[in-house]
Amino acid sequence: MTTRTWSPHSWRAKAIAQDVTYDDQPHLERVLGKLRRLPPLVSPVEIDRLRSQLADVATGKAFLLQGGDCAELFDDCSQDPIEHKLSLVLLMSLIILHGSRLPVVRIMRIAGQYAKPRSKPTEIVELDVSDANGQNVKEKKEVLSFRGDNVNGYEPDDRTPDPERLLGAYFHSTATLNYIRALLSSGFADLHKPLDWSFSHVRSPDLQQAFSTVIDSLQDSLNFMRVATGGTGGSARGGTETVDLYTSHEALLLEYEEALTRPYHQTKPQSFSQPPTRGGTPAISRSGSLVRGDTQSPVRPTRLATGPSGLDSSQKLDPTTTKFYNVSSHFVWIGDRTRQLDGAHVEYFRGIENPIGIKVGPTMKCDELVRILDVVDPDRIPGKVTVIGRYGASKVDEHLPGHIDAVKATDHVVVWQCDAMHGNTKSSQTDPTLKTRHFADIIQEITRSMEIHRQKGTILGGVHLELTGEVNEEGFSVTECIGGSMELADKDLSFNYRTHCDPRLNYEQSLDVAFLIADHLKA
Ligand code: PEP
Ligand code: MN
Repeated sequence: MTTRTWSPHSWRAKAIAQDVTYDDQPHLERVLGKLRRLPPLVSPVEIDRLRSQLADVATGKAFLLQGGDCAELFDDCSQDPIEHKLSLVLLMSLIILHGSRLPVVRIMRIAGQYAKPRSKPTEIVELDVSDANGQNVKEKKEVLSFRGDNVNGYEPDDRTPDPERLLGAYFHSTATLNYIRALLSSGFADLHKPLDWSFSHVRSPDLQQAFSTVIDSLQDSLNFMRVATGGTGGSARGGTETVDLYTSHEALLLEYEEALTRPYHQTKPQSFSQPPTRGGTPAISRSGSLVRGDTQSPVRPTRLATGPSGLDSSQKLDPTTTKFYNVSSHFVWIGDRTRQLDGAHVEYFRGIENPIGIKVGPTMKCDELVRILDVVDPDRIPGKVTVIGRYGASKVDEHLPGHIDAVKATDHVVVWQCDAMHGNTKSSQTDPTLKTRHFADIIQEITRSMEIHRQKGTILGGVHLELTGEVNEEGFSVTECIGGSMELADKDLSFNYRTHCDPRLNYEQSLDVAFLIADHLKA
């Protein structure tokens, strides 16, 4: 199976789940042609660095924190939302680092997390219309489901897929990432001034207290380190003045992913026997962009001259030295709805160098998981694949042990990650139109996953969360998930419910989860 020739477009011969149909094909082709000419958002050097850091996660030498929105919106591409998300992930990583004494690999669902798989292609919406007497009345209408800002609009009258939105996705991702890079290189992540990350609006006194304790203790250590290292402050990774931070999204729209998949020339085979760099150059803020023909690093891939429109199928590439990178994001994952063994998405994913995730829910068979790993990780590269369990608190005991045993019996070295969100979605009892998640279920799934791994002699390497630092005009956090230290109740959900997709942990709930993880990792 894995010997079939792969190309960035070989997925087109396969059945594709969750496809988007565009009415205007020539328009789509024009957009894809433009995307093929646009520059990469991330570099292969950064992608390779993340993969080697994930090898550390796979062997318990680091912890992986991945989080962000369920669906980013183009409107989120604005100063405050980006700063809030970034500061929340930085704070969480600080809490986990402090408790666990492990370096934290930070991946955000950001700068490209636009496309959404949906359970149904259409949905019934209620529209405000005027009746014959000019009165406002509600009318039910079936419209295409919202598939994410890179496909169609959230407003019910804007649901026709528009290829132009793919360019919108590229440019909004670019602007978001550019601002993240600017913040990080300007000292936003400087651990000497974490108070600037504003946790002052946290309303729970217990949480405030717990957080102050972490900050005080960290500042003590940092002051000590500053003295001990003669004023340099020590390493960047695990952090003092800046940190590594990576981007990710679900690679759902394969036309888009293909257009941003580029060939590079690998002069020497990669070596993963070396320990990954610690305290090296941070991935986002300081790493140089890829230099054509650079000879400094033996493993630095070199761009292949493929012409301005990317790769064309008539070109002869040496398969032994050509590597393909998806340069739209450092990490991409396959969703639970698109991971069919013979489907288009698995075909696309098997050819790229990026570290990848596979969402694994209760319907995944043990042998199927192994067969997918064999296809996407034929070279058994540690950290290449992150298995993202999303079983639900009530099902994790039934499914995770079998999946662990099945993978243990192979020579794949994977990162085990717990997505404690997607198996725990419920309808609100007070307003059944709102989706919610219970904090207790989220904690339960993470805790059980850790315990099951401990029993099996494997490691839960990380968590995958939907979260947001977003607040309303009065500074109140979003109210989408129930519970946590601020004791949000079902009846509170409508107070500041803002998501256009799945419910996210708010600022306080996210910090609660970080403290819990830190406690577990201490044990
Ligand atoms: C998601 O991560 O937002 C998602 C849709 O997840 P899953 O594929 O696990 O359902
Ligand atoms: Mn989601």
